[in-house]
Amino acid sequence: MRRPILAANWKMNMNSAEVSAFTNQFIPLVANADEVDIVIAPPFTLLDRLANEIAGTAIQSAGQNVNPEESGAFTGEIAAGMLADMGCAYAIVGHSERRALFGESSEFVARKAAALLRHEISPIVCVGETLEQRDAGRALEVVETQLRESLAGVSGDQAEQVVVAYEPVWAIGTGRTATPEIAQEVHGHIRSQLSAQFGDAGNRIRIQYGGSVKPETVYDLMSQPDIDGALVGGASLDPIAFSRIVLFQSQRNQ
Ligand code: PEP
Repeated sequence: MRRPILAANWKMNMNSAEVSAFTNQFIPLVANADEVDIVIAPPFTLLDRLANEIAGTAIQSAGQNVNPEESGAFTGEIAAGMLADMGCAYAIVGHSERRALFGESSEFVARKAAALLRHEISPIVCVGETLEQRDAGRALEVVETQLRESLAGVSGDQAEQVVVAYEPVWAIGTGRTATPEIAQEVHGHIRSQLSAQFGDAGNRIRIQYGGSVKPETVYDLMSQPDIDGALVGGASLDPIAFSRIVLFQSQRNQ
């Protein structure tokens, strides 16, 4: 049984006062959600503030990105050790916005994942096809290649620490959620690939779905056999909406 993982990707949003306003509302709402992992990825500048706000709760923090180098002359970059120092348990790598806007390749993503694992931070490795690739019938092939290349540096022993996020680019920030069946088809394919690469450990890797997840859509998505969580952008900025996503079990028939 894989433990569900619901993660907020705040992207380039929020300030320190808004973090406190969010957590003041959010923490009591999810106080009894002890069967799921709850993760929040704020901008780097808010990691310290968030760490103070979530201290003593089961909520964990994440970086939205990382540089694969350990330290040095990389102006503007953040190393895995720095995220560990901020108490991060996770970090997102390979988000489609970084692949598309900052030209990041899967090889670079693999180096980031390896750097995080050296610091015992779980990488949330994002993969997903564009609409053009889907329409050309290439969705599974594109995801398979991204995943193989992005996980190239992960050993069998480390596999279980990895989280994979399937995020079809056409569903991110567009209000278009993939149907549970479309998402499951890709998640099932990812599962087979993970099992082929890592054996039993591949069955224990959690695969999140991401792309316009809302309280109204989360239950049906989470009911699919290979959907183990959600990576949430827009709806995660609202503490009530994100708490309803965390409490996905109670969203049935909403
Ligand atoms: C994301 O950016 O990871 C994401 C899934 O965003 P949204 O929920 O806004 O589509």
